Amino acid sequence: MNQKELLARKFRVEGIDEMVIAAFEKIRREDFIPEKDQKYAYEDSPIPILAGQTISQPSTIMVMLNALELKETDKVLEIGAGSGYNAALMGAVCKKGKVISIEYLRELANFASGNLKKAGIGNVIVIRGDGTKGYPQEAPYDKIICTAAIPRIPDEWLEQLRENGILVAPVGPEYSKKMINTQKMIKLKKTKKGNEAKDLGAFSFVPARGEYGYTI
Ligand code: SAH
Repeated sequence: MNQKELLARKFRVEGIDEMVIAAFEKIRREDFIPEKDQKYAYEDSPIPILAGQTISQPSTIMVMLNALELKETDKVLEIGAGSGYNAALMGAVCKKGKVISIEYLRELANFASGNLKKAGIGNVIVIRGDGTKGYPQEAPYDKIICTAAIPRIPDEWLEQLRENGILVAPVGPEYSKKMINTQKMIKLKKTKKGNEAKDLGAFSFVPARGEYGYTI
């Protein structure tokens, strides 16, 4: 078994949604990583991309996508396109739906769109902008995922989420060398009666910039 197959097997043992694992098997992570680090594509670790940003660790992505309870027809908003890899996975799962991925840094927005185009993913749109305010033009969303750390969940995201929609985001103080895994992965379901939030554990993400991000 190669490294990719071993990872897929591990995700199956962990009970990750089969549609998400199928997308992991289909999409080539190496196509979303700068050439010199492509050999590490199937190590379970984050990898630097451009401008100090990283492509998330595969097992972390699996936790997040599993929590989103994705359906084929979902319309998803992602904050933090980065390499475009996570958006590509969601595009593969939501084949009858659509993914809108917002990226703050122009260099990364271009990188993500180029990678998605090369991978032949047609239902993902990358937009250069500040995702901390969401993207009202395409709202409401069935699911919202944030792949950068955020100090707290912006009201705009909750407004742009459909009723019974799910939001997943790493919330908490900024990562520091002294204190790792400073964010809690929050899964929030918006219901008629209010919001149900669940803590999925501690993680470490690059900080969000913009209106409701950190001052960096
Ligand atoms: N999902 C990505 C990993 C993202 S890393 C992947 O699969 O590769 C986090 C990304 O969030 C970085 O590219 C960073 O530039 C971006 N980001 C930070 N603040 C943002 C904001 N306010 N709006 C949109 N993107 C933001």
